[in-house]
Amino acid sequence: MAFWTEPDFDMHELVEVVHDARSGLTAIIAIHSTHLGPAAGGIRFWHYPEADAAMRDALRLSRGMSYKNAMAGLPMGGGKAVVLLGRGSEKTPELLAAFGDAIDALGGRYVTAEDVGATEADMVAISKRTPHVCGLPAADGSVGGDPGPFTSMGIYHGIRAAVARKLGQDSVASVHVAIQGCGSVGGGVARLLARDGARLTVSDIDPARAKALAAETGAEAVASERVMGVACDVFSPNALGAILDDEGIARLDCAIVAGGANNQLARPEHGSMLAERGILYAPDYVINAGGIINVGLEYLSRRHGSTCDIKEVGRRIAQIPERLEAIWHESENTGRSSDVVADAMAQRLIGRE
Ligand code: NAD
Repeated sequence: MAFWTEPDFDMHELVEVVHDARSGLTAIIAIHSTHLGPAAGGIRFWHYPEADAAMRDALRLSRGMSYKNAMAGLPMGGGKAVVLLGRGSEKTPELLAAFGDAIDALGGRYVTAEDVGATEADMVAISKRTPHVCGLPAADGSVGGDPGPFTSMGIYHGIRAAVARKLGQDSVASVHVAIQGCGSVGGGVARLLARDGARLTVSDIDPARAKALAAETGAEAVASERVMGVACDVFSPNALGAILDDEGIARLDCAIVAGGANNQLARPEHGSMLAERGILYAPDYVINAGGIINVGLEYLSRRHGSTCDIKEVGRRIAQIPERLEAIWHESENTGRSSDVVADAMAQRLIGRE
């Protein structure tokens, strides 16, 4: 079946497959929507087992960015790029230069940023070839740079909102949060919650990482295969996507799912499954928008020759709970699950009702 007839294609405006024989670059650049502005979304470097998986990843992530940017109130559309790593195609300066040229040729329709496998240094290398890149190093107190801490901050606000709604508590003190993934985002969430006196359980496929974070935050570290079954108030997925499947949801012993991993629901029906179990779900692309709010404002201010106060980033991230509240409120009133409500809101914003 042609990929543009599959549901994941979802009326993408443009899907480009880039080949550069000299550097070994094979990449897919997917632009889902530019209705609200230039399509922004990160670049993922990954060893895909097969080309189909790379295309699926690009399309799903790109649509997710359309929804995320729209719901974050950014004047930006959604897109994503994936670079297929493999034999003869490693992340080299030549490959980054070729990727920068491919973005530049799109004339600003797509703006790239960091995603899995990419670093701030990669963004700097790409910026030598195109201005359509964000997440460049920032001086302390300025917008831009590593999106991770900003993503963590948005998730922290979102968890507090969920706890207030579901558990009727103004604070997360003594609330038990089980965190899957102790990387940039999960680690940041744990530190913010620990500061407020939350009870934490942490886990990572790298046990040393979980142990170090546990020692720092007073958490209990558990094996990665156990974390989804931990009896807790909040399960916070901050590692992989598609973890909320039949088996994963059956194992959950929590009142709330709120975390930063992209594409947490394995299939659309898993949102209803969570609702049927009485679990309050914070749609991933709404709660994890803090990072793109930061780098999106960095890009827009640079393009407009203006400066953006870091306080503006904080102000916008602090609005994440309001958006979640609006979704949960409508979900309660209509009986539709929170992911379905959020998708409908996002589709309205990008003119695709
Ligand atoms: P990261 O690579 O810094 O951390 C991910 C951590 O998850 C690693 O420590 C890894 O060992 C661990 N992990 C992987 N598989 C696991 C498993 N099965 N069980 C437990 N731990 C596992 O990545 P990150 O930047 O913290 O991103 C985490 C998630 O959040 C990803 O899904 C990413 O797409 C999403 N996200 C990140 C940002 C951002 O600003 N960094 C923004 C939006 C969404």
